[in-house]
Amino acid sequence: MISRLFEAGVDLFRFNFSHGTHDDHKRRYEIVRGLEQQHNRPVGVLLDLQGPKLRVGKFESGKVTLQTGQTLRLDLSDRPGNEKRVCLPHPEIFRAMTPGMDLLLDDGRIRLSVSKCGDDFAETEVVVGGDLSNHKGVNVPSAVLGLSPLTAKDREDLQFGLDLGVDWVALSFVQRPDDIAEARKLIQGRAAVMSKLEKPAAIHHLNEIVELSDAVMVARGDLGVEMPPEAVPAVQKRIIRACRVGGKPVVVATQMLDSMVNAPTPTRAEASDVATAIYDGSDCVMLSAETAAGKYPIESVAMMDRIIKSVEQDPLFRRLMDTERHLPESTAADAITAAARQVAQTISAAAIVTFSSTGSTTLRCARERPSVPILGLTPRKDTSRKVTVAWGVHSVLTEEIHTFREMVERAVLTASQEGFATSGDRIVVTAGVPFGTPGATNILRIAWVE
Ligand code: PGA
Ligand code: MN
Repeated sequence: MISRLFEAGVDLFRFNFSHGTHDDHKRRYEIVRGLEQQHNRPVGVLLDLQGPKLRVGKFESGKVTLQTGQTLRLDLSDRPGNEKRVCLPHPEIFRAMTPGMDLLLDDGRIRLSVSKCGDDFAETEVVVGGDLSNHKGVNVPSAVLGLSPLTAKDREDLQFGLDLGVDWVALSFVQRPDDIAEARKLIQGRAAVMSKLEKPAAIHHLNEIVELSDAVMVARGDLGVEMPPEAVPAVQKRIIRACRVGGKPVVVATQMLDSMVNAPTPTRAEASDVATAIYDGSDCVMLSAETAAGKYPIESVAMMDRIIKSVEQDPLFRRLMDTERHLPESTAADAITAAARQVAQTISAAAIVTFSSTGSTTLRCARERPSVPILGLTPRKDTSRKVTVAWGVHSVLTEEIHTFREMVERAVLTASQEGFATSGDRIVVTAGVPFGTPGATNILRIAWVE
């Protein structure tokens, strides 16, 4: 199944560490790397850490029914709960509570309002009742919790994933810029960092978080519980815009083709949701339950792929990308990539080829949203995998180049081998001299494909 998903167009696989054992993940990781080798195509692997997901404890009878209007006490005692009280085993959350605050349980299905609270308890009123069973999730939208985004489980999972060789690490429930710094200290450059925006608090520090992250995810599953549904579309656009200004890849996630968990075709509203994310300018769209547990995983990926292609062929999409382009920063890489985009457009080049060892020039080129494909060439395996997340980039692992001649020959050969250019086409090439020095992008060359 993983192999068929890959052939249907997956660029990056998310390994969701909220589920499964290390052995499960290792087995799947090896399958993905095997495909990479077999198809000679870089594939990205994203380790998604569970993060501090808050949960209630157990109930004597496994489940209770809460009536609207009744009271429910939350405390730290680990005795099984009942209709009157239940354990909420997170001292930090009691410290952050104030009377009047709302708590959302079980993906927002149940709403409690705090009437009285202390360091180790809260008396709440049930505003919206319903059935509540063991270990259901708790969201506290309006509080900034004194929680590290990395739990003890996350730290173990992270170490395991880094040793395995993942390319990206996603941090769940990022609340403040410091959360990212803490993760970076542990990751030590062994993987790139993607911040999942799923707490309103994170939106208040949007620009700072975008700046400190290598990429961002609009994690609408939890975000849509933590804020009113009507606020999510505008926030999605704001996040995407901030990422595009900063040149950071942005992923739109969750419930994109949700009905395809059980049906071979999406609703029109879902097709429209995927299309909107593309028109907004996101780099990636992500599937969750559709491919992890659904009945139609291949159809879901194929459908997404078709929607993406169809939007990208719409002249309106091109107009939106051109009008929403952000000014280059005053760096050599931005000057060269902005020029490359313009030259490619002016001479109707078949592609832009970027030689980049860290991938940073390739990402800056993607930020330009050129009208032609970007072939991201790199001699580094980790870079070739990392840039799979970026918009419009076809990643290619290649040998180190040493001379101008090699650069042109390699660019032309790769563009034709990968099916992006044929005889008579022109391509635009960017690279850095001296060759092999990271961060030295300083040349632009037009080459003919003979
Ligand atoms: P999750 O994150 O699937 O790990 O919860 C995505 C989201 O909340 O949208
Ligand atoms: Mn989430």
